[in-house]
Amino acid sequence: MSRAPRDPDCIFCKIVHGEVPSARVLETDRAVVFLDVNPVNKGHVLIVPREHHARVLDLPDDLAAHVGSLVPRIARAVHAATGSDGSNVVINSGRVAGQTVDHCHWHVIPRFLNDPVDWPWPHTAYVGDEIGRTAAQIARALDERPQAEAEDD
Ligand code: 5GP
Ligand code: ZN
Repeated sequence: MSRAPRDPDCIFCKIVHGEVPSARVLETDRAVVFLDVNPVNKGHVLIVPREHHARVLDLPDDLAAHVGSLVPRIARAVHAATGSDGSNVVINSGRVAGQTVDHCHWHVIPRFLNDPVDWPWPHTAYVGDEIGRTAAQIARALDERPQAEAEDD
């Protein structure tokens, strides 16, 4: 099923519309799931909405809910097929976060004991009331901007 919007220059739109081949594992009316061609580990899949939305914060809530609802089933299948010991489920949003294909997607990456993947990422700490002020700012933004605007790259 074809759904607007799409971007004629987007590789994932081309895959979704069958113009570029992919190793598909599941299709629904709103999403396509296929293997990442350059996997972090073998069995790494991408869950891709059929509609083109560049960033996770551009996604309509109902589409995000549908795509997100596929994650447990996909993660179980990847685990069963690869014999993984765990998985990372990741959405990269924006260049600074490592997004390279500007069509929002979920990664499901199987993980194996002692695999060479450089994870987890480093953590920092809040100072004083910084954590409370940060929570308040985000809570206020939720009230003011229910539909998030595009982030800067
Ligand atoms: P991002 O870096 O945007 O979060 O993830 C993009 C992913 O898409 C990368 O892991 C990359 O290997 C994968 N990818 C890029 N081009 C293609 C393609 O043509 N086919 C498939 N199957 N995966 C792709
Ligand atoms: Zn696209």
